[in-house]
Amino acid sequence: MESAYVIVGASLAGAKAAETLREEGFEGPVVLIGDEQERPYERPPLSKGYLMGKTAREKIHVHSPEWYKEHSIDLRLGTTVTAVDLAAHRVTLADGSSIGFGRLLLTTGASPRRLQVPGADRENVCYLRRVEDSDRIQAFLRPGARVAVIGAGWIGMETASAAREAGCEVTVLGRSELPLLGALGREAARVFADLHRDHGVELRFGVQVTEITEHGVRLGDGTLVEADAVIVGIGVTPNTRLAAAAGLRVDNGVLTDQHLQSSHPDVFAAGDVVNAFHPLYDRPIRVEHWANALHQPRTAARSMLGEEAVHDRVPYFFTDQYELGMEYTGYIEPGGYDRVVFRGDVPGREFIAFWLSRDRVLAGMNVNIWDVTDAIRDLVRSGRPVDPDALADPDTPLDRTGRPQQG
Ligand code: NAP
Repeated sequence: MESAYVIVGASLAGAKAAETLREEGFEGPVVLIGDEQERPYERPPLSKGYLMGKTAREKIHVHSPEWYKEHSIDLRLGTTVTAVDLAAHRVTLADGSSIGFGRLLLTTGASPRRLQVPGADRENVCYLRRVEDSDRIQAFLRPGARVAVIGAGWIGMETASAAREAGCEVTVLGRSELPLLGALGREAARVFADLHRDHGVELRFGVQVTEITEHGVRLGDGTLVEADAVIVGIGVTPNTRLAAAAGLRVDNGVLTDQHLQSSHPDVFAAGDVVNAFHPLYDRPIRVEHWANALHQPRTAARSMLGEEAVHDRVPYFFTDQYELGMEYTGYIEPGGYDRVVFRGDVPGREFIAFWLSRDRVLAGMNVNIWDVTDAIRDLVRSGRPVDPDALADPDTPLDRTGRPQQG
């Protein structure tokens, strides 16, 4: 019998890898192991439609229960892998048993960074990663409830939006002077600050949280932000413990090449946990977004089967907050651009923002404008110089924004 292909992490990434193994004709045993009780599901709804009660639980799963049976995927839920023995090609489970593998895929994801202040373990302090976390937060979202959100990243701003729509009084507490500053930079972050203020969210920036009391959140200047519930979204750290203990190369995630193969030839990684060499950027990058968990596993699974597969997609993510929907295509380290060009109606929140470096488009964000991501991706991927005036002009098609080549 063929040796098993074992996937550790029964998430979107894990489920998509199992799917691809079968699609590509792998007929050997596939074991998909996850420590959650829920079968693999998508996380974006947890801070959006599902949190707001608009998306039903049945809609969030990647596959039906029958799909796993029909495709002979040995899905082991509520099961924790405690160790990986590379030499023996075995994973050990929490109950002491072990499973041999021919090839192993790590889709172990990431965990929320914890707030390190007194009172952070109070029962009204919520993090958001798993479906039960979303259920817990939803139970607090009642008209008039006071919600304090710590951290002005994607979780913070999406849950603030959901809480406002549920009729809560919402205060967002951020360390920097704008929300989403690290992700978007000052120019575009202002759009989200205005959006939330216009919807009645109190934004308090440049603040330090010192304590969670029974009445709310204490700040560095001694003031108290009264709150019935506290939502904490201060980033995540990749779950690399198993990989590091096994002796795999780890640096801000499991290091892999462009085929998503780790420092051991039989071990691969995908999703939030991987810091994968990206040919377009000529270095490893780690991307913590849904599209990455959707697409990377296809490459990883094909690589596990010995096919010549490369993950070189331009990163992509989206958000929905109130009436604002946006898609972002590209990848920039904080501060890694020299100019932002807007095209369209910024105050009316119907525009595209482009981040440029030396007149090359690094990323584009379309806000309430649709069907442009392919064109933005082409601009990013081509790396050709653009004419910023043409880029800013909504009447110039995006594929005609190139700067005439010299000489
Ligand atoms: P995030 O988007 O990385 O934002 C973290 C925020 O926390 C930043 O605004 C950061 O602000 C702040 N922060 C970091 N350490 C802090 C600390 N010790 N005290 C106070 N603030 C701190 O992370 P997230 O919002 O927690 O989301 C978790 C993960 O889910 C991320 O990987 C995110 O990409 C993903 N996610 C994505 C989406 C989407 O794509 N739409 C939606 C939800 C979640 P400063 O940098 O200004 O300090």
